Amino acid sequence: MIVTGTVITGDPAQPVVDALVVRDGVVVAVGTADALRAADPDQAVTATGRVILPGLVNAHTHAYSAYARGMAVHSPTRDFPEILANLWWALDRKLEPEDVTLNATTTFLESVRNGVTTVFDHHSSPNAIPGSLGLMAEAAGHVGLRACLCYETSDRDGPWAFAAGVTENVDFMREANTTGQDRVRGMFGLHASFTLSEPSLDAVAEATEGVPGGYHVHVAEGPSDQEHALATFGKRVVDRLAGHGMIGPESIAAHCIHVTPAEIEVLAERRANVVHNPHSNLGNAVGFAPVVEMLRRGIRVGLGTDAYTADMLASMQVAKIVASGHRGDPTVGFGEAVAMLFQHNPALASEVFGTDLGILRPGAAADLITLDYRPPTPLDERSAWGHAVFGMAGAQVVDAMVGGEWIYRDRAFTRLDEAEVLAHSAERAERIWKEM
Ligand SMILES: [Zn+2]
Repeated sequence: MIVTGTVITGDPAQPVVDALVVRDGVVVAVGTADALRAADPDQAVTATGRVILPGLVNAHTHAYSAYARGMAVHSPTRDFPEILANLWWALDRKLEPEDVTLNATTTFLESVRNGVTTVFDHHSSPNAIPGSLGLMAEAAGHVGLRACLCYETSDRDGPWAFAAGVTENVDFMREANTTGQDRVRGMFGLHASFTLSEPSLDAVAEATEGVPGGYHVHVAEGPSDQEHALATFGKRVVDRLAGHGMIGPESIAAHCIHVTPAEIEVLAERRANVVHNPHSNLGNAVGFAPVVEMLRRGIRVGLGTDAYTADMLASMQVAKIVASGHRGDPTVGFGEAVAMLFQHNPALASEVFGTDLGILRPGAAADLITLDYRPPTPLDERSAWGHAVFGMAGAQVVDAMVGGEWIYRDRAFTRLDEAEVLAHSAERAERIWKEM
């Protein structure tokens, strides 16, 4: 199949082309439509006339938060620990297996609608732990996108839930990371330093010995995480986690807001993947991550949404403006934000899934999206990222292809009935809201 349009490839070798050839789920050629047609006259041509981007990657989100949209929180909620206690930890305890499936499905639907074809999720459902990651993997299969899943292990729900979380992660990683498929992966989910004791981290390190895959953990999201680590363990968060082997090239350290230059050095030396979540950080008023410093130190800083939005293009724009505003320098942030979404997220996803993702070049997976974006100025090699940051949005996405299959075509899902899922979710959410 030849797909034509204005293709922004993400590949510096050929940044903008007008066609690509998809065969057996893989991009086999990019170039001009005329040349590709001449080389392969029998191929069917899908002329989108649209802007085509690589399928986007969301490197940190929480499907379990889906029912929170529009829900009222009645208790006083003044800071980050109270946001956790009154909202997220009250909600996740209500979730049953049916909710795990529904939350994952609606989150994945919304992700695809916004152009995300690969999602890294951090899941929690303390009263429905065993099998939860399998249910989410099934939901990902029903929607058609790629998903890297983990269960949020912590001490907060007692030893039984901790042990169940460890087992769920390890079992899922062994299965997902060793079977010959490139749709689902597992990581080991850790909530955060302040909800995991030393014996718990030791137990996790022991349980993950020889298990393929890295850790996905919240790092220094609020100042309280550092205060707790210093007071309880005499160490800062990055040093503590690194000491347990949980900061490394296969692992994701989400947020990294309250980190010192020395901790940035450890993140760089250990080749950690840091994931920045600008909407969430601003909304929770937890501070400003030193993303520019981390990027300049050579750290792979990717971009997530922390479930604040599903729109990675919006996340990229906010990453740009928060970097400019925080540093008081309007010239900072643009290139950094583009690199996070179109360079570092693809690099992370490609390593984790073992196939080229987030880039459209020969040999890469045929994961792409089309946008109904109508540029008022020239859109070419010079201007493509300017259009992406200041003009494009998830709401413009019309189609999504994963592994050569259109899973979303003309704004309709091809594998499942979206309206039915949303109606079921709203019905369940109403019941959960009443209990909150
Ligand atoms: Zn998070």
